[in-house]
Amino acid sequence: MKKIRVAIDGPAGAGKSSISKCAAKKFGMIYVDTGAMYRACAVYAIENGIEITDEAITPHLDEIEIDMSYSPDGQRIMLNGKDVTTRIREEDATIGSSKIAVIPSVRLKLVEMQRTIAQNNAVIMDGRDIGTHVLPDAELKIFLTASVAERAKRRYIEMLEKGMKCEISKVIEDIEFRDKNDSEREFAPLKQAEDAILIDTSDMSFEEVCEKICDLIKEVI
Ligand code: C5P
Repeated sequence: MKKIRVAIDGPAGAGKSSISKCAAKKFGMIYVDTGAMYRACAVYAIENGIEITDEAITPHLDEIEIDMSYSPDGQRIMLNGKDVTTRIREEDATIGSSKIAVIPSVRLKLVEMQRTIAQNNAVIMDGRDIGTHVLPDAELKIFLTASVAERAKRRYIEMLEKGMKCEISKVIEDIEFRDKNDSEREFAPLKQAEDAILIDTSDMSFEEVCEKICDLIKEVI
């Protein structure tokens, strides 16, 4: 298969990961969840009592080793040899990831890893800065979005299905906090690339979005 790169960006809860997983499976591409990498760094900081600030984190960056493994059942993420696939979805890791993502040294480290993965594989990579910064020459760029209410509703249902306790008001608050942090940070903020295709999924079903994205991928394969 041609080493094509598909960049899928957008705010928290827009459906990037489920859509990317579905399309990656269909085309035999590797799905790279870059948010998981920021989450793993946050877990390292939290579990080692390191404050999430530039000065506190930067000296520890070399201690953080992240490995992603891919299988038909999904992606597993290892932090210094320990499987943190479930841990990174907890609330402290969610909030921590958004804070850690504003630190330039963290971004530099993770972006380098992301580019290396994309050099060696056909990938669908999702995140906030993939089309604008990580893979500016990706063959296809998509910007997925939806209203805050719709994104919160989807995230809430997903968490309940995973057996995680939560309140819808808290989910809305988290999404608004992360939207603000992601859009206002100085280094590689969340922004639609000029050549990205915008898809607002507020009134679309999962199947409709997936079909639309698969059609777009077929055009570049
Ligand atoms: O995608 P997900 O919600 O799991 O990402 C967790 C956090 O990591 C986001 O809130 C965002 O702040 C950050 N992130 C980022 N750039 C990326 C992917 C995620 O800043 N490419």
